[in-house]
Amino acid sequence: ATALEITDLHKTYSNGHQALKGISFTVQQGDFFALLGPNGAGKSTTIGIICALVNKTSGQVKIFGDDMDQSPNKVKQHLGVVPQEFNFNQFEKTADILITQAGYYGIPYKESIERAEHYLHKLGLWEKRGEQSRLLSGGMKRRLMIARALIHQPKLLILDEPTAGVDIELRRSMWDFLQEINQQGITIILTTHYLEEAEQLCRNIAIIDHGRLVQNTSMKALLRTL
Ligand code: ADP
Ligand code: ADP
Repeated sequence: ATALEITDLHKTYSNGHQALKGISFTVQQGDFFALLGPNGAGKSTTIGIICALVNKTSGQVKIFGDDMDQSPNKVKQHLGVVPQEFNFNQFEKTADILITQAGYYGIPYKESIERAEHYLHKLGLWEKRGEQSRLLSGGMKRRLMIARALIHQPKLLILDEPTAGVDIELRRSMWDFLQEINQQGITIILTTHYLEEAEQLCRNIAIIDHGRLVQNTSMKALLRTL
């Protein structure tokens, strides 16, 4: 099955800047996929459109066969998103952030607590469960965002530069975790400008530059051309 299908995506911001000039690619279910490109290429714009945070100018986005414009609620159920910026309530406690998020998805309270506990353990945040999120380190905040994105058990997880500014040790443990959940069947798409990160994790890649797709291939094939 196809997890994500993007067709001829265009984005012109209101200042006239053309961030995307007709991008198309697909990601198969179960894949670990990287969207690569230099700063300013259009990666965050693409992710923003998929997550309905940015309005597209034209084109189509389908998630597990559902058009995001026609079936936004269905698409939302399938999708977990880890943005680049921390956007949670700084004064809410770590565990409560996860329980609140589960509530948004209609997950019963008891189940929400069980899931929150599971991900707090999984992501090394259990000791911090009672702390306000503003007191967490940068790496912990990022792991909390991953936990929050997974709480409704999405089939597709999208991460925007998940390890930017994270030290190498933590980066490796985040890679291990992402690989583990990919092996459990979650399709993962991440953006990165570290080729090494894509090389470690991803089977397939798309490279964008100046709002255009310049490569869409397997990681193995890309490495042969370098
Ligand atoms: P849209 O075209 O989707 O309505 P806008 O062009 O109105 O989006 O921009 C949304 C926000 O992003 C605005 O608050 C704007 O100030 C801000 N913004 C403008 N230029 C940039 C930029 N180069 N990078 C990031 N954000 C920007
Ligand atoms: P990347 O994630 O690959 O670094 P972005 O998608 O953030 O690239 O940005 C693509 C281009 O669009 C850049 O030139 C950026 O400055 C511009 N841009 C991003 N957001 C806005 C905005 N809100 N308004 C105007 N231009 C923007």
